[in-house]
Amino acid sequence: MSDNAEYDYDVVIIGGGLVGASLAVALVPTGLNILVVESIEFDSKAQPSYDERTVALTHSAKLIYTGMEIWNAIASQQAEPIKDIHISNAGHFGKTHLSYQQVGTEALGYVVPTRILGKVLWERMQQSSNIHLMTPAQAVSISTIEGGKKIDIQPDGQKPLLHIKTRLLAIADGGRSAINAQLNIERSIKEYEHAAVLSIVSTSKDHHHRAYERFTPEGPLALLPNGRKTHALVWTTHKDNLEERMRLSDEKFIEELQTAFGDKAGNFSHPSKRNCYPLTHGIVKNPISHHGVIVGNAAHTVHPVAGQGFNLGLRDVAALAEAIYHHRHRSTLGGLEMLNNYSQSRQRDARMVSWFTHGLISLFSNDFVVPALTRNLGLSAIELFPPAKRFFLRRTMGLTGKQSKLAMGIPLG
Ligand SMILES: Cc1cc2nc3c(=O)[nH]c(=O)nc-3n(C[C@H](O)[C@H](O)[C@H](O)COP(=O)(O)OP(=O)(O)OC[C@H]3O[C@@H](n4cnc5c(N)ncnc54)[C@H](O)[C@@H]3O)c2cc1C
Repeated sequence: MSDNAEYDYDVVIIGGGLVGASLAVALVPTGLNILVVESIEFDSKAQPSYDERTVALTHSAKLIYTGMEIWNAIASQQAEPIKDIHISNAGHFGKTHLSYQQVGTEALGYVVPTRILGKVLWERMQQSSNIHLMTPAQAVSISTIEGGKKIDIQPDGQKPLLHIKTRLLAIADGGRSAINAQLNIERSIKEYEHAAVLSIVSTSKDHHHRAYERFTPEGPLALLPNGRKTHALVWTTHKDNLEERMRLSDEKFIEELQTAFGDKAGNFSHPSKRNCYPLTHGIVKNPISHHGVIVGNAAHTVHPVAGQGFNLGLRDVAALAEAIYHHRHRSTLGGLEMLNNYSQSRQRDARMVSWFTHGLISLFSNDFVVPALTRNLGLSAIELFPPAKRFFLRRTMGLTGKQSKLAMGIPLG
């Protein structure tokens, strides 16, 4: 590799949330000099990526973290296996049941609190000599220089702006800052008429590692196993009802939940503090520019209906880390040829997940007679036709299409 003197870093990652931190850890074996810029410290209450949420990780995500040699650290703290999923259509006959036995893996996925993911990822970054952390510090602008990018960074407090040069800039800001607009990448974003209300609820029955997805006229209601007799609730709520649902007393909230879900999981009780999230849908046409790439939610945001958003971002991470690892000449790191190959390898997956989750919401979130019939028939067809069920399962588990080495659980180094 050629001399690196004019650049401060080989790779700068803006955003140390779930995706940015995962990318940094995946890049440890490259030996490249990496900087992560994060505006909110990972253990702060205000951290938007590591908060009260739990995420459902697919089997493919587990393999990626195994390849990155951090799965054991995550699982030793908390990773509740999902062994089967019960999907039903409130008030109608359609239902289906998906099981790990249908795909031959030890589980369909795992439910992990994002704070635990944050702790493991940040510990690993802190221990790695080729990763440098700048936090709290905010990237404020980007410009193109020969063979790379220049980033202006505002450290917390009244310190002067820092100017950092890098060969490759990866933006993983979750689409939260205006910074990715500066890469001139076209991005369309649509706000759903719904938000998600989250809480942890106790149930009178043991969950036996079963997750539930119940489609109601207002939108999907998901229960993920999380501890022995507790579930993480994700309740899609129309914006018109949001304020009222957030303000309900715990007793009334449980009563409404029981009415919407029924008693399949037993009796609900003890809801934790509720949090709500706006829901958006968007995807960029092409996530790359000259020595710049955007990953994770910054590149695609999907409805949480099938727990796909972060899993998709993690597959971006695996493919990008592999492309960087195999790139032989530091002097051309981040060049368009390398980034084009990466982008082409990821487009199909991103479009499929975006199309699939948006399609589910369009089909299942209304109560007109024809869609009601279509979704009943759809669920029954999945139930009665095992190849359709296997395809559906493998798709949502991230096991279809070309797999990167990391996505097969094989370390890069
Ligand atoms: C209700 C809900 C439930 C979900 N459940 C699931 C699930 O079960 N499974 C799943 O796969 N996905 C799920 N998701 C999606 C998942 O949460 C997101 O895909 C994931 O958080 C995206 O991570 P990210 O790192 O791309 O972005 P973010 O999590 O938004 O992180 C971005 C980071 O960048 C930092 N940042 C922003 N701007 C700057 C700047 N200018 N300078 C420095 N730092 C900056 C922010 O502080 C933040 O730390 C869910 C989402 C929601 C809303």
